[in-house]
Amino acid sequence: MHRFFVSRSDHVDEAQALICSDELIHQFTKVLRFARGEKVVLLEGSGFEFVVVLQEFSVKKILGKVLSKKFCETELPLRLVIAQAILKNMERMEWLLQKGTELGVSAFAPLLTDRTERKVLGKEERLQRILKEAAEQSGRGKVPELSGAKRFEKIFFSADWRVAADARSEHALDFGDEVGGAMSAGGQASEHIVVVPHPGAEQKFSEFCKQNLVKNSEKFSGELVICVGPEGGFTDREIEIAKAKGAHVVSLGPRILRAETVALAMTTIVAEVLGEM
Ligand code: SAM
Repeated sequence: MHRFFVSRSDHVDEAQALICSDELIHQFTKVLRFARGEKVVLLEGSGFEFVVVLQEFSVKKILGKVLSKKFCETELPLRLVIAQAILKNMERMEWLLQKGTELGVSAFAPLLTDRTERKVLGKEERLQRILKEAAEQSGRGKVPELSGAKRFEKIFFSADWRVAADARSEHALDFGDEVGGAMSAGGQASEHIVVVPHPGAEQKFSEFCKQNLVKNSEKFSGELVICVGPEGGFTDREIEIAKAKGAHVVSLGPRILRAETVALAMTTIVAEVLGEM
């Protein structure tokens, strides 16, 4: 069955679905040529999926009856945030968003670091479409969030740092009233762990995951933020800030990986340790 995330102008509840968005109407009628009786899976982003049989078609709307509603079991048990320094090559950044979504990333937070060369992301509409299509294709129940670009330091200064609830522009940031050291290094108090991969670090990321993500058979269900540096890497200054704020600086072995490989390798390790691969 085809899967579709509905948009704000569509509606789905326990009983029925009402499709009003031009995009879905076009896709259903012109692209896929659905007719009365076609069954589809509709997702509204809360993690639930609705099996719907399409019943009435008109130019402006499509009505369907909900046959079942169930929780989508495809999300990782934790909230995994990839905070990636914006890459020079936008194609690589898009590839990272697509593949990270397939692997279960909850949110992407583009970072501005000392050595970030490109300061802006591509067109938001295009990036959101990449995320949505990858989520549909991979059977996810949620489309990962994508925040605006943030300074690297930002993640260490906010008491309740959350990707979506923040300013969408670096220029809107004001460090003056932020709270230092709010992050929990062990993940116990606020269940917020920050990890910074850096070549040559002492601790291996796989060891870190084994020690911190599963304890007495209980899986970590808080927020794990992985900050990946740009093509030129993090500066010593940034690594010192990360360490001072209690982030875990980790290694991925002796080979230097491209940034987009790093994010995907780390997501895979997390999923494996949590028994999701
Ligand atoms: N010459 C740069 C350096 O030494 O940092 C290489 C940067 S690498 C292309 C981009 C980012 O990927 C790094 O900032 C780091 O976050 C991550 N990375 C790449 N290989 C890594 C490894 N073997 N261990 C830990 N992090 C790595």
